[in-house]
Amino acid sequence: MNWVQHSLLIVEDDPALHKVVGLLAEAHGFRTVLAGTCESGIRDARAHRPDAAIVDLGLPDRDGICFIESVRTWSNMPIIVLSARAVDTQLSAFDAGADDFVVKPFSSPELFARVKALIRRTACDPPESGDSPGGIFIDTGKRVARRWDGAQVRLTPLEHRILEILARHPDRVVVHQRLLQEVWGTEQADMRALRLYVMSLRRKLERDPSRPVQILTESGVGYRLASDAPQL
Ligand code: CA
Repeated sequence: MNWVQHSLLIVEDDPALHKVVGLLAEAHGFRTVLAGTCESGIRDARAHRPDAAIVDLGLPDRDGICFIESVRTWSNMPIIVLSARAVDTQLSAFDAGADDFVVKPFSSPELFARVKALIRRTACDPPESGDSPGGIFIDTGKRVARRWDGAQVRLTPLEHRILEILARHPDRVVVHQRLLQEVWGTEQADMRALRLYVMSLRRKLERDPSRPVQILTESGVGYRLASDAPQL
C-alpha cells in the first residue's frame, strides 16, 4: 500500500533513547516531533496534532500517564507506551487510554509495525457486524462466524460476545478487566473462565489454536484481534 508520511510525537526524556527512537522513526518514514517532558509533550500534541504518539512513562516533570489522560480528553490519536515498567503499570496505561504498550528493550520493526497498524485503524471507522477483522467474518444476528477457510462455525453467546468486543477494537489490546466487565458485568468474574472461552474461540477459529495468529494474548494484560493476521 502507499504510505503517506505521518507525523509521530515522541515523548521521552532520556536523550540517547530520544535520539535513537527519533532516527528509527524517520527511517520508518515518519516525520517526528520530539518532547522531553510531559508538559511539553501535551503542548506539542495540541500544537502539531501528530498522527500518533510514543510516550515514556518515567518523565522528569510528571508521569507519562498524565500525558495519556490529558490527550484523551480531546483526541483519539493512537498512543503507544514505550516503557521498561511492569505489568501493573501496563494496566494503568491502558486504563488511561493507551492503545499499546511496548516494553524496553524494544524491537524497532515491531514497535513501528504496531504504530502503523494503529494509525491505519484509527483512519478507518470501527467495523460493524459482518466486517472481517483478522479474516474472521462475524454475523452478530445469527451468532455465527466464518473462519480462515470460509467454514461457518457456531459460537456460544459468551464466545460471540467476547469476539464481538475484540472485533470492535481491532489491533488494540482489550484489557482483561474490560472483557470481564462487558461480558459478565463485573470485573470480579473468573479469569479462568475468560481464558477457557478464548481457548475455545481459538479452537473454532484458528488454523493452529496452539499458535494463534488472530486472537492474540497480551501476556498479563488482555487480548487483541489482529486485523492483518497472516493466513498461513
Ligand atoms: Ca524516562
